[in-house]
Amino acid sequence: MSRARRLVAVSNRVGPVRNVAAAGGLAVGLVDALREHGGLWFGWSGRIAKNSRTVVHKEKIEGLTLATIDLTQQESDGFYNGFSNNCLWPLLHFRIDLTRFERAQLEVYRRVNRRFALAVRKLLKPDDLVWVHDFHLLPLAEELRSLGARQRIGFFLHTPFPPTEILSTLPAQEELMRALFAYDLVGFQTPEDLGRFQEHVGWVLDGTVRGKSVTAFGRQLHAGAFPIGIDTEQFNRFAFSPPGSQEFARMRRALAGRDQFIGVDRLDYSKGLLRRMDAFGRYLERHPDAHGKVILLQVAPVSRSDVASYREFRDELEREAAGINGRFGRFDWTPVHYLNRALPRRTLAGLYRASRVGIVTPMRDGMNLVAKEYVAAQDPADPGVLVLSRFAGAAQQMTAALLVNPYDGEETAEALHQARTMRASERRRRHQTLMKRLRVFDVRRWRSDYLAALAAAPAWRAPAPPAR
Ligand code: ADP
Repeated sequence: MSRARRLVAVSNRVGPVRNVAAAGGLAVGLVDALREHGGLWFGWSGRIAKNSRTVVHKEKIEGLTLATIDLTQQESDGFYNGFSNNCLWPLLHFRIDLTRFERAQLEVYRRVNRRFALAVRKLLKPDDLVWVHDFHLLPLAEELRSLGARQRIGFFLHTPFPPTEILSTLPAQEELMRALFAYDLVGFQTPEDLGRFQEHVGWVLDGTVRGKSVTAFGRQLHAGAFPIGIDTEQFNRFAFSPPGSQEFARMRRALAGRDQFIGVDRLDYSKGLLRRMDAFGRYLERHPDAHGKVILLQVAPVSRSDVASYREFRDELEREAAGINGRFGRFDWTPVHYLNRALPRRTLAGLYRASRVGIVTPMRDGMNLVAKEYVAAQDPADPGVLVLSRFAGAAQQMTAALLVNPYDGEETAEALHQARTMRASERRRRHQTLMKRLRVFDVRRWRSDYLAALAAAPAWRAPAPPAR
């Protein structure tokens, strides 16, 4: 791709730009690319404004520009807490039971996308490549096109793409799918997500699929799978240099010979935390020899606490963890250690390294970066074992992990046992296989594959009129 083309990234939230590796998240994937391309990153500042007059806050940091706008309370409620997190997020994770569709929230969602588009449009240069991230911004390209933008615009969905039967329950399905066809490239995490999108196009949208080319609503776009990765080498260094290595040593001392199972997840119902507690309880029940010798450390910072389903879920999880401690604990042994806090990533790296087993058992997940971080943080000479849900996007690439069905408590409990008692030679073999792929398919590869595909996608042409 030509270096001269500027990259404009748009996501719900932006940054941070300084000390990105330590902060994690989308920034790890984007900041280098934005720096290389003298780029611009646009999003919501996270601040609440008194009125919806658009003021773009611009900040130049280390060669790239951050541009943000504030939202009103009503906009943040309808767009973020409402349609994005109360409707799209559960739907995209196959949870129709938790999906709440409110037309008024959809309207605010569209209005905020329109406000984003108005601000972004003014900042665009003719030859920019525009890369839009995630489900908060599905209609952004359609809004930009209606304002005359002709640039290449790509979209990447970080969550799963649901089966057509689930997507079809969304009253706004067709409206949102039509909006998606204003992009030139639509990227998914896995070939399975891509396949479900293609099926939906054929079955419900009456469109056609030819290789990477997908046509519907009179528009043709390219669609592909681009599994997101981590900065594998850097995460490994985090675990083996201070302060990560100090955390590792501290943790090992505190464990005093016990084996630690670790789970690190945002407190979200898609992460399978209740079933995980249940599986850990079953494991303790079946393996009394492990009593007093294992600990489950669950780190789960609160997220989206303005959404009711998240508050209820948190209460339930706390009851479940307390139940296991009450049932199995002894005065000198507490089986579940539960932290509701975000930790610095270097600390996390040390904790992963100190843990014999990594438990990543979401019921459904776009990719799951924790699975990759856990493996990257291990000591190749004495690595821990990853127990991974088949329903995380990461399972497609990480087949050398112990793959489990998180709906099956018995199977998960047995995998915990197998992981803890696995011989060193097998642990090393599995770890080597996992690391080989993590090194190749890292975050740089994700970004460069996606941007090359975006530059190669067919240029924008207005939709063909419907055939008479
Ligand atoms: P999601 O994007 O749904 O939260 P991922 O597993 O893909 O799930 O990414 C989560 C990211 O957040 C990982 O990089 C992980 O290290 C980080 N993270 C999760 N829990 C914590 C925590 N308690 N403290 C710090 N970072 C965390």
